[in-house]
Amino acid sequence: MLKNLSFWEKSTYLEGIDLAVVGSGIVGLNAAITFKEKHPKAKVVVLERGVFPSGASTKNAGFACFGSVSELLDDFEQMGETAVLDLVEKRWSGLERLRQRCGDEWIDYQWHGGFELFLKEDISYEKCEPYIPFFNEKLGPIIGAKGIFSKMDQPQIFGFGKVGNIIYNCAEGQINPAKMMGRLQFLAIQMGIQILTGVTVTTFEESDNQVEIAIENSDPIKAAKVLIATNGLTRKLIPNITLAPARNQVLITEPIPNLKLKGTFHFDEGYYYFRNFENRILLGGARNKAKIAETTDEFGLTPFIQNTLEEFLRTVILPNQPVEIAHRWSGILGVGNQKAPIVEKLSDNIGIAVRLGGMGVAIGSLVGEEGANLL
Ligand SMILES: Cc1cc2nc3c(=O)[nH]c(=O)nc-3n(C[C@H](O)[C@H](O)[C@H](O)COP(=O)(O)OP(=O)(O)OC[C@H]3O[C@@H](n4cnc5c(N)ncnc54)[C@H](O)[C@@H]3O)c2cc1C
Repeated sequence: MLKNLSFWEKSTYLEGIDLAVVGSGIVGLNAAITFKEKHPKAKVVVLERGVFPSGASTKNAGFACFGSVSELLDDFEQMGETAVLDLVEKRWSGLERLRQRCGDEWIDYQWHGGFELFLKEDISYEKCEPYIPFFNEKLGPIIGAKGIFSKMDQPQIFGFGKVGNIIYNCAEGQINPAKMMGRLQFLAIQMGIQILTGVTVTTFEESDNQVEIAIENSDPIKAAKVLIATNGLTRKLIPNITLAPARNQVLITEPIPNLKLKGTFHFDEGYYYFRNFENRILLGGARNKAKIAETTDEFGLTPFIQNTLEEFLRTVILPNQPVEIAHRWSGILGVGNQKAPIVEKLSDNIGIAVRLGGMGVAIGSLVGEEGANLL
């Protein structure tokens, strides 16, 4: 809350702002950093409602991924080849940009590959398998690798229950999302960008070449330019935007002795995802099993989704092995009828960079850069 401000606080933090970015997730911080790189003398302020980024960027599963075969095939049927390849290109170069900007050691980047699971009775595998050579040929030049996807000859190697087939992706990695955001915060602060937390923007309006930003329980502030980077929570600020919030619930187990499983795992066209974190399993998703209830921007856990995830954990991932749940949480992402994000100007000095979908770790850096370049 910006109340009872001193002269110093007002003049140092809140006056003469060249760019105010609303939202300190991966997009907001990349936008702020890019703008400051281009305009080193500019005063750039990031306004964040939470103590931490409070949407998706510190709550996600940390897959550094660009699409499994079933997801790509589904996109291919809906969007056509050019649009899918364009999306993959953006995801891959976004991941490279993130790793280059942050440094692998700072974000705990690890490469263990990715795996897409198909249950024994799942006929979608018969549809996906013939497309492996096709996607290898099309994605090879983008990723810079041959044979990215391959059918695993021994799908039983992980001891999964009910799983009949696995497609391996040799180019997928994983990160620690909170470390990623910590590194971006460090880089931003080092450049002189101010990140103000506990500041909830309620409205914004441009007049006379300035943008007035209304803040909950505080006096308004002014900025020359504003970028909205609020992703899944954007409808509160712009009710008619073509974006829906999508809650994703996650759980993580207690350490599991002798856990062999390493990597990032996709199931049910990416609606379920799990990975190892050290010797624990992180599992999330299943929002397709309760789409209406999970189309919400309220954080929270529901017995239905948590039980669905736990059943998957106990029957598919670790059948017949006792395992304790250590922690559960939720995050909100922004989805739409298209997978492409919305990066556009709302007026001369207001831009928006939102609707990151389920692969924001991959595209967040570039979407932030594009948002900054709009202004
Ligand atoms: C559980 C979960 C798992 C995921 N797993 C993966 C994964 O493994 N790999 C992957 O690539 N992607 C994953 N994603 C998606 C990815 O995390 C997001 O696409 C990405 O983080 C979006 O970044 P963002 O900066 O656009 O939004 P956010 O990180 O949501 O940032 C928006 C920020 O705006 C702030 N804000 C909102 N409204 C206001 C306001 N009015 N005033 C001030 N501040 C405001 C919010 O508090 C928030 O910090 C996952 C998402 C979730 C929820």
